[in-house]
Amino acid sequence: MKIISAKQALLPQGWVSDVHVGVGADGRIVSVNYGDSASLKSSDDEVYSVETLLPSPANLHSHAFQRAMAGLTEKRGPDPRDSFWTWRKLMYKFLDQLTPDDIEAITAFVQMEMLEAGYATNVEFHYLHKQPGGAFYDNPAELSERIAAAAELTGVGLTLLPVHYQYGGCDQRPLKGGQQRFSTDLIEFELLWERASEGVKKLPADTVVGVAPHSLRAVSPENLKIIQQIAPSAPFHMHLAEQIQEVEEVQAAWGARPVEWLFDNAAVDARWCLIHCTQLLPHETSALARSGAVAGLCPITESSLGDGIFDGVSYLEQGGRIGIGSDSNIRISLSEELRTLDYSQRLRDHSRAALASAEQSTGRRIFESVAEGGAQAAGRASGRIKIGMWADLIALDGDHPDFIGRQGDALLDTFIFAGDDRMVQDVWSAGRHQVRAGQHIQRDSIVDSYKCVMKKLGGNL
Ligand code: ZN
Repeated sequence: MKIISAKQALLPQGWVSDVHVGVGADGRIVSVNYGDSASLKSSDDEVYSVETLLPSPANLHSHAFQRAMAGLTEKRGPDPRDSFWTWRKLMYKFLDQLTPDDIEAITAFVQMEMLEAGYATNVEFHYLHKQPGGAFYDNPAELSERIAAAAELTGVGLTLLPVHYQYGGCDQRPLKGGQQRFSTDLIEFELLWERASEGVKKLPADTVVGVAPHSLRAVSPENLKIIQQIAPSAPFHMHLAEQIQEVEEVQAAWGARPVEWLFDNAAVDARWCLIHCTQLLPHETSALARSGAVAGLCPITESSLGDGIFDGVSYLEQGGRIGIGSDSNIRISLSEELRTLDYSQRLRDHSRAALASAEQSTGRRIFESVAEGGAQAAGRASGRIKIGMWADLIALDGDHPDFIGRQGDALLDTFIFAGDDRMVQDVWSAGRHQVRAGQHIQRDSIVDSYKCVMKKLGGNL
């Protein structure tokens, strides 16, 4: 058996010293020993020693291909009120150029970055299904299988969410231009979902397939209802209430604000993950907190797009569940996502340590919340260092000068608020030890493939 021995580990009951975590051949945690029981190790065990061991959160929302556009959307267009909608225009131009090989290489690169940042799992909200112009590839799940092939290479845990994207807006206008690659009618989506589920079967047993209606703007009420039955217990994710314009459009077309409409028309429960929720009124925040669903927060992307600020203070006070995603993948950083989440609350409320509680520091409360909420949203037995869970683990660098004299919550706060992901030393996804000494074990070849794609795309954007 593989044993990971840690000087300190964040277990469900809190910080514990001298912890030995046994990982079985199937990638699950089979033992957690400390104190007197630590001597239960056998001489056959392969022991790997680390300083500080944490459960690794899932990255619960990503559009992998967008990684290749990072940094290209910071100019203003001719419209002085340049916004999100200009960003989308560039994305559609970019989309026309991507081949399946390009998508696989970009996905492997961003999954590698996720692992190096400390995320064990990529929850991929995958809506790029078709060829430019809108025809399926010979294999309707071609691009889903490319995401799976990237996950096979990088060893990241994969929760694949094939996305149903019907329309270009609430008025049910057809998808045009670059968006045609996203488009599926109901029959096409059901076929795609079946084939994608088959296509990921070659991946390890921790792989999950869920279902994702793109948003209330892009899917009809009828189809939203029908696709809830495709995999009734699997993760079910949707973008919701991200932009003011989107809220107004839904309100005009459907007669209620997005969250109001959804809670009146769907049984939102713990399998749901609602992405962004940056435009909620207080009664909507309360409804979401009560539902048991996860709010999928993407603070770096939401800052980049100027979406707004999720009301984390009130939501967590009401027992709401959260997770973190990198969405547009403009920057992959676990520590920075968590820091940005808390800083956004501070800037709005003129407060400090906004998401701390009486018992827990800011970093501790956010980290544990996103580890558990991310696992729930990924449909993954994970998020805590506990027997039976997948061994999704992070070890922080014991030699880092900022960690000298720091333990427990102070060390976690230092990682999130004073440090960065270079403090992440090792990462395991379902026991697969993919990051060692801060680097993915296949880094060089993954980077080389990505560079080839970027050289090819470079001049055309
Ligand atoms: Zn998104």
